[in-house]
Amino acid sequence: MSDVRPTIRLHGGVLLAAPGEAGTLDDAEVQVTGGEITYAGPADQAPDFTAEIDIPAAGKLIMPGLINGHSHLCMIFGRTLGAELTLLEWLDREMPLIRSFDSDTLYLAEMLGCIENIRNGNTTLVENIFAPHAGDWAPEDAAFRAMRDSGIRGIVARGFTGRNFAPDFIETGEEQIERIGSLAETWKGTEDGRLGLFISPLLPWSMTPEHFRQTRDLADAHGLMIHQHVAESPEFNTKIEQVFGRPVRNVELLHEMGCLGPDVQAVAVSDLNDREIELLAETDTRVIFDPQTRLFWGTGFPEIKKFLDAGLTCGLGSNGPAANCGQDLFESMKYACATAKTAANDPQALTRDRALRMATSEGASVLGLGDTVGRIAPGQRADIITIDLLQPHLMPTFDIEAALVYSARGADVRDSIIDGNLVMRDREILTVDEAALLQEVAVAAATVVARAGVDAPYAPRLAAE
Ligand SMILES: [Zn+2]
Repeated sequence: MSDVRPTIRLHGGVLLAAPGEAGTLDDAEVQVTGGEITYAGPADQAPDFTAEIDIPAAGKLIMPGLINGHSHLCMIFGRTLGAELTLLEWLDREMPLIRSFDSDTLYLAEMLGCIENIRNGNTTLVENIFAPHAGDWAPEDAAFRAMRDSGIRGIVARGFTGRNFAPDFIETGEEQIERIGSLAETWKGTEDGRLGLFISPLLPWSMTPEHFRQTRDLADAHGLMIHQHVAESPEFNTKIEQVFGRPVRNVELLHEMGCLGPDVQAVAVSDLNDREIELLAETDTRVIFDPQTRLFWGTGFPEIKKFLDAGLTCGLGSNGPAANCGQDLFESMKYACATAKTAANDPQALTRDRALRMATSEGASVLGLGDTVGRIAPGQRADIITIDLLQPHLMPTFDIEAALVYSARGADVRDSIIDGNLVMRDREILTVDEAALLQEVAVAAATVVARAGVDAPYAPRLAAE
């Protein structure tokens, strides 16, 4: 990305500057200089401003980009494979694919996922990567390079497994210390703060108490947040009891291990009891819901209203593309509302304004980015999307927030500005040659699937060279 950000002016559209907090403003203008928002308000009161990039936005909504709090782009080549398995059976199916990457094919997989996120209006992405360190290359570097080159605001949540997992994925504590240190030094805060690093105990039964303690120490030493799957399905609690040899629930275990707190994200949270929700609230632990993935697995879903009533700060994630076939946060908002209402038998269990905050400002707070992105306001970094409102499925729109949560979809996003760079204009990706990328991805995916020995029911025809 360019070091010198262009000046950008959006004008003539409807501004939703703080979704779920404030109303809309017609005929608005937004001005961006040096990656920062300098003005957002009525066009007729805007300071004189001549911008290098001028985006007329009549008929469009201007809003903050969406925050995808949890994904696994390293599994994207498994999309459509293993669709009707249980969660842990499916994981076994996916592992050979992850094992079969080289540096180039993993970069292409990660880049595909970044572009898919940008196309859906996600300007911030957490990639929870896990992969064996088999050669002289680091898988996390491929993810960071793709984030850097695609232009997305990206955080790599580096998965760690210390036991009870595929042997070639398991690392020693010393290896984790060395690799986290190296990634923190090389990537954390680079691209003017657009790239970030989290530490991620991948599965609770893949950790020993010593690993948990080391994770907390490493997080504190490098200023990293801890990102972890928590009770994603009832199997999690069963396996924790078996492995730790006593009746302890997932959240109780993390509490004992010092791995709860405001710098911790608990992802999925499907099988929690009331005491566990209280513990999350008492420790101000952050929560990320991935409701469409929970329904996909058929293993239950969180009663979201209980988390909201407990006062928790919550965000949304798509989870990996191989687990639900999409990276669409509009879908996540709708499913979050639908599951919350179903669980509580209450149409107001999760309202559209709160769902929008989870996808923007509140989701940013969950990731420690609340002062940086999530609203269109002077002083915030410029992560902005536009949405085409003039479409059959969005008309008539008498309530913009209802339209966004219940009717809109990722494909309605037209433009995307991330950290002050225009990365998509009128649905054309500007940071990479997307057509060429998709050709390369098709070849790479076929290569990786063949190398992994995975039996695919359909072999796509590759375009001629
Ligand atoms: Zn996950």
